[in-house]
Amino acid sequence: MEPKIEEKLLLKNIKPTPMRQLVYRMLTQEETALSLSELESKFDKVDKATLYRTLKTFEAHQLIHSIDDGSGSIRYALCDEDCTCRPEQLHLHFVCKICQKTYCLKEKPIPQPDLLDGFTYESANFIVKGVCPSCQK
Ligand SMILES: [Zn+2]
Ligand SMILES: [Zn+2]
Repeated sequence: MEPKIEEKLLLKNIKPTPMRQLVYRMLTQEETALSLSELESKFDKVDKATLYRTLKTFEAHQLIHSIDDGSGSIRYALCDEDCTCRPEQLHLHFVCKICQKTYCLKEKPIPQPDLLDGFTYESANFIVKGVCPSCQK
């Protein structure tokens, strides 16, 4: 397998097993976030439970983040290398109403909420819906 992928996993303290390297490579080839089923369909044959565990390991080590886009299934996308998934690093997610794809808008941080005293901000899920550039053509 490519040494670069191994390094990326090690950088996030993930043991680079062949399965993890394979899943990571698949995620790098995607432009949009994928659900577990969508990822599963890219394999000829894969154990769904193993795939799920791999995603959960990646998420726990901030290699990927999960997105609840309101479709009923959680989608996953790669984090930036220096991402630690802190609230101020969260970005907008865009769901296209035509192709149903979920895009990470990493250049667009979500607005920091103005909370009442005593409330601590930890996380937010900011989904914007509309039509993506490829569906507008
Ligand atoms: Zn679209
Ligand atoms: Zn994202």
